[in-house]
Amino acid sequence: MERIHQIIGQWVNSKLAMKSFTQAAVIFCAMMLFSSCATSPEDAGISEGEINAEATKAYAEIKAKSKISQNKEWTAMVQRVAQRIAKASGENFQWEYVLIDSPEVNAWCMPGGKIAVYTGIMPVLKTEGALAAVLGHEVAHATLRHGMMGYARAKQNNYWGLAIAGAAVLGGELVCKTDNCKKMAQLGGIAAGFAVTFIDRKFSRDDESSADKSGQIYMARAGYDPREAMNLWDRMKAANGGKSLPEFVSTHPSDDKRKAQLNAWLAAAEAEYQKAPQKFGVGEVIR
Ligand SMILES: [Zn+2]
Repeated sequence: MERIHQIIGQWVNSKLAMKSFTQAAVIFCAMMLFSSCATSPEDAGISEGEINAEATKAYAEIKAKSKISQNKEWTAMVQRVAQRIAKASGENFQWEYVLIDSPEVNAWCMPGGKIAVYTGIMPVLKTEGALAAVLGHEVAHATLRHGMMGYARAKQNNYWGLAIAGAAVLGGELVCKTDNCKKMAQLGGIAAGFAVTFIDRKFSRDDESSADKSGQIYMARAGYDPREAMNLWDRMKAANGGKSLPEFVSTHPSDDKRKAQLNAWLAAAEAEYQKAPQKFGVGEVIR
């Protein structure tokens, strides 16, 4: 009997320890927001569909309040590259693409497949293939559900925009420190909360590496020479010094390490490229 009490006691203690551990982990995740310490948004009682619905709203707001590019050549390029990468990802998202007329050197893909490219990044890329590399990377963050747990925690706790770096809610007002945050906060409401959470996100080193890896596969499968992913890094490095660079440039791992990794993965990507039904090489030159 004593033994049973001991066992039950141990079990209760371990459950309590587990509970406080879970709470600590949850708080930690909420603080880190984009750490990958929990497994799925469902763990937080939020479905992926709900996150995607928020992304859809935020995306519509951003499009409505942005200047859409009138550059027909670039718009057509973004559309065809985004469509090919979307198809190569094998993901059944409600894909959308837009080219925003803005000097920012930026591109992103929200959860659920909402893609934006800013005109400022186009001359830096120099080729259609480099655009495929960027979109491959950004789309991979969405298909690999990176940051999903962070979104789930933020939504569940009603602090879209609260627990994120550079933003705080004071008296119901969203207070931003970064320019990105300020810009997104102007959207207002739920869309602002999601957009700020999304735009100011930071991924872990592992997430960045896996997005690089899958992105290179996607671009190759889409018919673009996967070597161009490495050339992209040189071009981004050259452009560095500008203020607003895409999330993948400003985050760890280091440029050199990422190039070395892309080189190590090249054989696998080349095999996909060989199987691609259509091959475009590095595609058209961006002028
Ligand atoms: Zn990234």
